[in-house]
Amino acid sequence: MRVGACPGSEACRAAITVATLSAWWGVCRLHGILAAVSDLEAIRSAARAFREARDWEQFQDPKSVLLALVGEVGELAELLQWLPADRAKELIGHEPLHTRVADELADVLVYLVGLAEQCEVDLGIAALAKIEKSAAKHPVGTSRGVAPDRTAE
Ligand SMILES: [Mg+2]
Repeated sequence: MRVGACPGSEACRAAITVATLSAWWGVCRLHGILAAVSDLEAIRSAARAFREARDWEQFQDPKSVLLALVGEVGELAELLQWLPADRAKELIGHEPLHTRVADELADVLVYLVGLAEQCEVDLGIAALAKIEKSAAKHPVGTSRGVAPDRTAE
């Protein structure tokens, strides 16, 4: 159990995790999502080796990694901020912007995986569980084609 975690919520989280994995197994195999989730371990290991070789592990803590993540999200936003919305997808598909966006997305992912590690969160499982919660919150029957109303929450 994680330090400071409520036993009830921890049990609930474990139950959700098992249910999530069971429910998603067929879909995951079909779409290769499990392969993508397991790749997070490869990213985590490569990033850890990169930091250890430079003796940078000492600078890793949740606040510092979060700020680095926010900085990288800012770098990504800077690339996209003045693109016309109706042409953004098309423009991102062309070089050199495509490579620059890929680089910043990679920075965001590496820091996100690092932050999850700092917070002792299994990011792949947490993401699948969150998608499941969102699916329950926004049923297809009432949500299809309707933008989520954030003001109603
Ligand atoms: Mg960057």
